[in-house]
Amino acid sequence: MHEVTGDLREAVFEYARTRLSYSPPPLDSPKAEAELQTLAGQTISESGMGGSAALTLFGEVLAPSTISTDHPGYLSFIPSAPTEASKLFDLIVSASAIYGGSWMEGAGAVYAENQVIEWLVRETGLPKSAGGVFVQGGTIGNLSALVAARFYAEKNGGRKSSRWAFICSSEAHSSLKNAARVMDVDIIAAKVNAEGQLTGEAVEQALSNSKDVDVFAIVATSGTTNFGIVDRLDEVGQVAKQNQIWFHVDGAYGLAGILAPSTRKLFAGVELADSFIVDPHKWLFAPFDACALVYRNPEIARLAHTQHGEYLETLTESGEWNPSDYAINLTRRPRGLPLWFSLATHGVAAYREAVETNCQLAREAAELIRQRDDLELVREPMLSVVVFKKKNWKQADYDRWSAKLLEDQIAFVVPSSHAGEPNLRFAIVNPTTTIETIREILDRIDRD
Ligand SMILES: *Cc1c(COP(=O)(O)O)cnc(C)c1O
Repeated sequence: MHEVTGDLREAVFEYARTRLSYSPPPLDSPKAEAELQTLAGQTISESGMGGSAALTLFGEVLAPSTISTDHPGYLSFIPSAPTEASKLFDLIVSASAIYGGSWMEGAGAVYAENQVIEWLVRETGLPKSAGGVFVQGGTIGNLSALVAARFYAEKNGGRKSSRWAFICSSEAHSSLKNAARVMDVDIIAAKVNAEGQLTGEAVEQALSNSKDVDVFAIVATSGTTNFGIVDRLDEVGQVAKQNQIWFHVDGAYGLAGILAPSTRKLFAGVELADSFIVDPHKWLFAPFDACALVYRNPEIARLAHTQHGEYLETLTESGEWNPSDYAINLTRRPRGLPLWFSLATHGVAAYREAVETNCQLAREAAELIRQRDDLELVREPMLSVVVFKKKNWKQADYDRWSAKLLEDQIAFVVPSSHAGEPNLRFAIVNPTTTIETIREILDRIDRD
């Protein structure tokens, strides 16, 4: 069972080679399950269909039924635009069977991942002693950081009221609600200012309104997913310090914006963070799935997260850096390696330029929208998200237009909404997305 023929190996490499050579890749689109049942049928059997047949089925039926998130016209949600170097290295990680949970087993890989973490620490201005781990995504990153924060609060005074709570803005990501549910803690939603930002004043107000709970963390978002709004990190961080409360920065999408010269200043104050996250699979041009989770004082996280078990003690007592100890995970793929290889290959300057290009394109897209009487820019883009409306359009109009755009294989732009009003949203993280791509999409909105 462990052997495949050299032919199958070559066929798989050939598939990968072809997919990597597409520029752009086919956008493709989903199919209904019933249709896939008809086209693909039952694929698992006692005897197997053979690698060649399975690969053909994937190439001809399954792959075209999945959207390519790296297509330049994929502008919904947060797309993914991995560099070729990072995709290639993902193949090597898969081929190498590296266990990324412990230093004992994965020293070389963990060293390389930590080089990337150290680079993020330098960019954000945390102390050199900061450290962390690459986890599956921002959801697990936020949860792991908040678990460490609560652990710290428990060790330092403990809970005096009946409930733990953390503060975040009403614009914060849904994963924080999930974290609160999983941890059985409350959320205090603080108001945002006219720019949509969480401010120091709003946090102070939220604190004074929450005397009946114990606040163990204050969460700022640096790049909301809806709009790319960066909270006032400096103010919020100061208030957290003054009140001796853990300061977490959720930069899953937007913290990469610290690399762009034109947006770097928005992130002043991130250096005050006790923990932060940023997803390389969002805006650091790495493949799914990777979130860098960084702690100012990793020792707190280690005490909060280390799993103990008879068969594990040889690892936990070693004194070595074991990535598993810093989040809610044990077995882990060294998922920071594709980013490490790409960074080592291209250098940091190329990343600064790519992020800057995306921000610049967002500003140009906003300008195109402003020039049209029938469109309305909902707010100025702060990073690389552009939100706008077509005057007089209802949800059904947006839906119809979006479906046609995908059907014609031009772009994938699903309607979004804010405050109950439907709108359109471009999230730009792909350096191959150009102003022509944007213009083509906008031109397909009838100017009635
Ligand atoms: C995407 C996102 C998350 C969740 O990250 P996943 O990698 O999708 O789990 C959390 N916070 C923000 C601000 C995000 O944009």
